[in-house]
Amino acid sequence: MSPDTTSPTASSAASSASAPSAPAPSAPVAAGYDVERVRADFPALHQSAHGHPLAYLDNGATTQKPRAVIDAEVHFYEHDCANVHRGVHALSERATRAFDGARAAVQRFLGAPSPREVVFVRGVTEAINLVAHSYARPRLREGDEILLTQLEHHANIVPWQLAARETGAVLKVVPCNDRGELLFEEYLRLLGPRTRIVGVGHVSNALGTVNPVRAMIEAAHAQGVPVLVDGAQAAPHVRIDVQALDCDFYAFSGHKVYGPTGIGALYGKETLLDAMPPYQGGGEMIRRVTFQESTWAALPMKFEAGTPNVAGAVGLAAAIAYVEALGLERIAAHEHTLLEAATAALADLPGLRIVGTARDKASLVSFVLEGVHPHDVGTILDRQGIAVRAGHHCAMPVMERFGLPATTRASFGLYNTLAEVEALAAGLRKVREVFAR
Ligand code: PLP
Repeated sequence: MSPDTTSPTASSAASSASAPSAPAPSAPVAAGYDVERVRADFPALHQSAHGHPLAYLDNGATTQKPRAVIDAEVHFYEHDCANVHRGVHALSERATRAFDGARAAVQRFLGAPSPREVVFVRGVTEAINLVAHSYARPRLREGDEILLTQLEHHANIVPWQLAARETGAVLKVVPCNDRGELLFEEYLRLLGPRTRIVGVGHVSNALGTVNPVRAMIEAAHAQGVPVLVDGAQAAPHVRIDVQALDCDFYAFSGHKVYGPTGIGALYGKETLLDAMPPYQGGGEMIRRVTFQESTWAALPMKFEAGTPNVAGAVGLAAAIAYVEALGLERIAAHEHTLLEAATAALADLPGLRIVGTARDKASLVSFVLEGVHPHDVGTILDRQGIAVRAGHHCAMPVMERFGLPATTRASFGLYNTLAEVEALAAGLRKVREVFAR
């Protein structure tokens, strides 16, 4: 497609995978956002499902990839494929440059002060396990408290549970109200002298609630407590600035930001990462090895044992270049329009209840339809080409809070359209008809 201001070209994003350029200045909110041109960049969107044009509304689970990301990975495998850091040959030097360039792209994306504070991981799950294992476990004592919220994804619950089980620490949980908003007073009350770490999702994947992480971090720091932010659902929608947040750890997954699966990043403050023992042992993460003892490589390599996902990192850099060129503010404005349209359209449907009505909400709607199991809703929508998710969304505690085993969730991304929102509403009317028979 011809170069334009709303859709980054494949070549510009791909080339910045190996030599990241400065971030694109953000354009005026939603000005000239041409969603059709954006959609042209995503090959997977142009297919039908069960004889209907695909409406992909499962972006909370994973996003489709722009041509720029696919091309960047193909380019890497066709031209630069080599292991990084130790090679003396041309391909290894190019692969190393691309890998280091990808780290610089992530550093910029997160607003991190230094590349030493950016650790490549498989995704948020691995990032939180790393922190629970290497930061929390050595510090936790019996009766210490790990403070989480009722809205957390299992990835921000189970690693802490494992750490608690080994150390005798306990989990404390900040409840939410009926809208799905955290009770801040309760948070302040639970933030006690035994709290050793706070873990909070920036955006809830089950309800869409945007949590007041900045205020939560400030309150925790006032008590000397570090905070880990799970940014899995925030990174595709919100500009992240770890320095402005002043969070201690921040994690995101590439595949939710239009990048490849199997790659993500953990930001950690250098002083904390420095003081933490390695998470895994092996090649890459050592300075010197003898059978008596080993010493560790400098940050961030200390936490990157083994051959890294070089192609994934290259693809992630291309994804970051893509969303930055589009502009996160414009993406957020476009998605907000979709959220408002979906909320209004679904509110008109008899028997449908939206679960999660926070005032500050990301672009997803979780809902239940009276008398129809969420899985049946999802299946009937699928037959109409509409891809949504049904289930507990790996957030069983929040489902329990609302007395539900499951919901159906439509989650919107930068390429979704108002026509797809209308298709969702029409599809749900059909679900009603099927179950009224
Ligand atoms: N946290 C949240 C809020 C999520 O939505 C997800 C994935 O859906 C995760 C963590 C886990 O991410 P990953 O599976 O990429 O590690």
